[in-house]
Amino acid sequence: MRFLVPSLLLILAAMSIPSEADAQQARAQTRAALTPIRYTLTFPAPHTHYIEVEAQVPTDRHPVVELDMAVWTPGSYLVREYARNVEQVTAESGGKSLGITKTLKNRWRIETGGAPEIVVRYRVYGREMTVRTNFVDADFALLNGAPTFLTLAGDRGPRPHEVTLQLPANWKTSISSLPDAPGGAAHRYRAPDYDTLVDSPIVAGNPAIYTFTVQGVPHFIVNAGEGGIWDGQKTVDDVKKIVETIAGFWGTVPYEKYVFFNLITEANGGLEHKNACTLMTSRWKARTRRGYVDWITLVSHEFFHAWNVKRLRPAELGPFDYDRENPTRSLWVAEGLTSYYGDLLAARAGVISRDEYLGELASLIAELQSTPGRLSMPVEDASFDAWIRYYRPDENSPNVSISYYTKGAVVGFLLDIEIRRATNSGKSLDDVMRLAWQRYSGPRGFTPDEFRSLVSEVAGQDLGAWLQQALASTTELDYSNVSWLGLRIRNDSPPTARPWLGLTLTGAAPTLKNDGGRLVVAQVRRGSPAYDAGVNVDDEILAIDDYRVRPEGWEARLDAYRPGDRVRLLVARRERISPIDVAFVPEPARVTRIEPDQAADAASRERLATWLKP
Ligand SMILES: [Zn+2]
Repeated sequence: MRFLVPSLLLILAAMSIPSEADAQQARAQTRAALTPIRYTLTFPAPHTHYIEVEAQVPTDRHPVVELDMAVWTPGSYLVREYARNVEQVTAESGGKSLGITKTLKNRWRIETGGAPEIVVRYRVYGREMTVRTNFVDADFALLNGAPTFLTLAGDRGPRPHEVTLQLPANWKTSISSLPDAPGGAAHRYRAPDYDTLVDSPIVAGNPAIYTFTVQGVPHFIVNAGEGGIWDGQKTVDDVKKIVETIAGFWGTVPYEKYVFFNLITEANGGLEHKNACTLMTSRWKARTRRGYVDWITLVSHEFFHAWNVKRLRPAELGPFDYDRENPTRSLWVAEGLTSYYGDLLAARAGVISRDEYLGELASLIAELQSTPGRLSMPVEDASFDAWIRYYRPDENSPNVSISYYTKGAVVGFLLDIEIRRATNSGKSLDDVMRLAWQRYSGPRGFTPDEFRSLVSEVAGQDLGAWLQQALASTTELDYSNVSWLGLRIRNDSPPTARPWLGLTLTGAAPTLKNDGGRLVVAQVRRGSPAYDAGVNVDDEILAIDDYRVRPEGWEARLDAYRPGDRVRLLVARRERISPIDVAFVPEPARVTRIEPDQAADAASRERLATWLKP
């Protein structure tokens, strides 16, 4: 009985609601109690593309521990099987080698013999030049967490992961958004947990580094491969304007430092992280205005993600299961709205002009409206199936699916107009994003229903039916309200309609992808004359109406026909020659421009100005 009182106290204490400060302290204590995994990375022969990893792994004296490697990395929704680049995994303790067995495609089981700590060594091959993989050569290394680090399986708590790099003699620098490890040694970083490790790329080599400060917070631009072509200093002002505008949009800077990794490697792509982003670009891109607009809007897109998706996120996107797909219906918010705001905020920041911005918007609308898959797949379904469709495209993809980037951005634009109309310009999609930030940037994220409700709440009226149609149906989007914003969309048809079959061909303009001088069908648009007549992907077109046609002559040859003309194509399919009869139709009109309507009234013109510069 004498233990009753203390037990009761304990129970009462457990029942009281801990404050956030208590919870933070508890987390900090747990963290302090957990021994870090310590990795040392070396590059004895970087020209062979290998990273040598040595990991000191605490075992808590368990007789058996299991290590695993992620199969994918957040932000890039495809199972990539990173473990296929891992080799020669060994384990030892006190100089004695330990039994090790591979038990799953990405998992290793080690018998520790009761040792409190074991040393695990392995090699990682990295020569895939993308933002979500590793790349190592004589010049530099891009290291991503997911494809590099084995960690304790099932141990996804606050265990620190410490990384030390030993650089080749001719590499001067490494940089990461990770905090430096205690002790101040160079090239040593400490992630508070595995999630942070995965989310924090490291670049090593001799990059040019530029810094600037916004709201007292340091930002770094890390350019690998400027090569005397890319003018790094010239981009700093524009990137800073983007940072100021986006931080101003959200009203808060949620990180202590931020790193833009800009790898000038003739590759392309971007990947967001909580405190960094990785961009890949051609060094010639900044030499043309068109290329520069592409690059600076990519910067804006990836940076907007530091809020939207990295902190304000769909409930399904965290905590992550690194062993399998993590599908969500909300990528139209995470990616689509980021695409909408990436471009719009670049215009608001003044780094692209109004007309350049409207050009970006017109291409999104044109792409959506010329993709037959928009009539087949709702954007929420496209999001859910990202893992098996968007990231695994084939020649039939445009016929059956739609990009949640493209449709999500266009839905964002039209939704923004709906909210502005509903509130007589009192509120906008900007307010939805900021309220979502306040409400859902915590540990749980938002569900599709919660995000939809929030839109109606801000609009002050039920937009549920509008959202249901835009997100969960294949009904065509209605663009008529763009006039409320003083804009008009132009569907320009050429003065004389060009004859059209619905084919995309390799070798012919405008793709001009060389296929050994052959005119080969790369894609057949569903519902087009070629589709209905039975022209197939991989057919080689040899002749039209008994006369040879070559890739460079295809476009000119079409000029000889009119919509309605019937022709006989001669095609080679699996080496067999056969004729296919087909009739041309007029080439469908495409959205070519979205522009201020000169006939718009003063109120619409003012709304347009406010939208572009609130
Ligand atoms: Zn994105």
